[in-house]
Amino acid sequence: MKIAIAKEKELGELRVAQVPNTVSCLVKQGFEVWVEAGAGVGAGYNDAAYETAGAKVIADPALLWGEADILLKVNPPTKRDGYSEIDWLKPGATLISFLNPLGDPTLTQQLAQRGVTALSMELIPRTTRAQSMDALSSQANIAGYKAVLLAAASLPQIFPMMTTAAGTIPPAKVLVLGAGVAGLQAIATARRLGALVEAFDIRPTVKEEVQSVGAKFIEINLEEDTTAEGGYAKQVSGDTQALIRQGLSPYITKADVVITTAQVPGKPAPLLISEETVTQMKPGSVIVDMAAESGGNCACSEAGKNITYKNVTIISPTNLPGTVPANTSQMYAKNLLNLVKYLAKDGQLQLNFEDDITSSACVTHAGEIRNERVKEALLVISH
Ligand code: NAD
Repeated sequence: MKIAIAKEKELGELRVAQVPNTVSCLVKQGFEVWVEAGAGVGAGYNDAAYETAGAKVIADPALLWGEADILLKVNPPTKRDGYSEIDWLKPGATLISFLNPLGDPTLTQQLAQRGVTALSMELIPRTTRAQSMDALSSQANIAGYKAVLLAAASLPQIFPMMTTAAGTIPPAKVLVLGAGVAGLQAIATARRLGALVEAFDIRPTVKEEVQSVGAKFIEINLEEDTTAEGGYAKQVSGDTQALIRQGLSPYITKADVVITTAQVPGKPAPLLISEETVTQMKPGSVIVDMAAESGGNCACSEAGKNITYKNVTIISPTNLPGTVPANTSQMYAKNLLNLVKYLAKDGQLQLNFEDDITSSACVTHAGEIRNERVKEALLVISH
């Protein structure tokens, strides 16, 4: 079976789906591995490193996609410059990648029409058994770290307390909103840099985790149940949202840095910082809105831009994992390797739809869309 690793065509994307280390594991598993020329350069690996690992380097992307039995990628296939990567795939091939199936269900539809079996890395279940394949977590972890570095670099003060002959500098106050994987790493990173850290999450169960990484947990009394099935956050009512914004406002206006990471899977990001609260923040304070791409946690953020609003710097990155491509590629490559090894029997992929990891992640197979939420999202678009 031939596994192909495509070069990412998305502007600014430096990650790659497999690194030489994981390629040699695939080769040892009996797979033939093809890598598109230049695919790993952004992450620090030249073509020769892949060849040493046992891969064949292919210059023609149409040939690589067309011959692949399994194609591994970071971002969804692109359609531009007069070609569609999906149309290069042969019917029956398997594509494993982030596919944004709920945000862009038409892409999933195209994959089904092409007869491609597609597994979406966003849909790997967040369970202990699937932890080694959980790419959302591996990428969010590094993103949480990087968000703090971006804030520190933009803040007109340092993070740690410093006692010097010229006086004592107080520590910076950092507030983290949303304490999932990215938020917990942001807390730990800000603490390591010496900041005083407070955090809030709508799920009260994360209080202990927040405290274990060194932050004070902010409690806001909410009557509505905020946790959905599987321990995820729920999309709460407008009234509860308003209560949260009101409760957070005094903490936000005291903070030097606010890192926001709050998301509800498949829904727009909750609004946690109103424009009015931004105007009450200290001049020079910094917001990093990690949820900007899904609508933003701050009313003033603009996805993909760094802006200054009423003397507050608002940074709204859209691909933080892509800014640390060496590490995020290593981790993503390992997630994919673990998934391929999990699915493969005797050198062939064998999909068992009774298995929760396979049935959750597989969005198209044998010409059909298999995921009910994607089908619903398509219905919404067509009406
Ligand atoms: P995420 O990126 O979807 O969301 C980030 C955080 O925002 C979450 O902690 C969420 O509770 C919070 N949030 C949502 N709405 C909010 C609001 N209005 N105000 C404040 N905070 C809000 O989260 P994630 O890091 O991807 O984790 C999602 C879930 O998956 C969590 O339940 C986590 O414990 C679980 N998880 C499990 C495993 C595992 O078992 N292996 C691994 C990773 C994550």
